[in-house]
Amino acid sequence: MVENELVKWLKECQKAFPEIKSIEIKCFYRKIPKNCLGRVKGEIEIKKDIDAEALLLEGKVKKKIIRKKPKRYEIEINENLKRIKEKTIRKQIVQHVIIHELLHILNEDILSLSKDYKKRKRKKIHVKDFEKEVFQRYNEVRKINGLPPISKQEDLDLAINKILKKYHII
Ligand SMILES: [Zn+2]
Repeated sequence: MVENELVKWLKECQKAFPEIKSIEIKCFYRKIPKNCLGRVKGEIEIKKDIDAEALLLEGKVKKKIIRKKPKRYEIEINENLKRIKEKTIRKQIVQHVIIHELLHILNEDILSLSKDYKKRKRKKIHVKDFEKEVFQRYNEVRKINGLPPISKQEDLDLAINKILKKYHII
């Protein structure tokens, strides 16, 4: 079953992310915009807090908003990736997408992105180091799966793009 493959593939990717192994993550194929291969959603709990002492003694209202890290995340994989017929190839592309999203979870991009929509637009999250980190962790996952590493990030990007174009995914 195509749906079940994600459970296994996600688990393998999570082995390269020991920092967030206690976080609950689920992964599904979903219909999402064409230009987006994957995305991650997390529910952020917002709590309003008040400085009780300041209010009771000085009558001052000092409010704070506390954002808690999500305990659960959902990674959505563009269902168009199912068009890649060879399972072994599909797995490589999907795992690359999963690793990208796991890195957003690790970097707490979800939390900082939710703060302010204007800032969100300005904030650059896909900096050069981000892609490099995705590449390194991707190679780690390959190692776990008994595959040889890929030496150049550019080669990998080219290969992935070629497959995505072949199946009219991008
Ligand atoms: Zn991203």
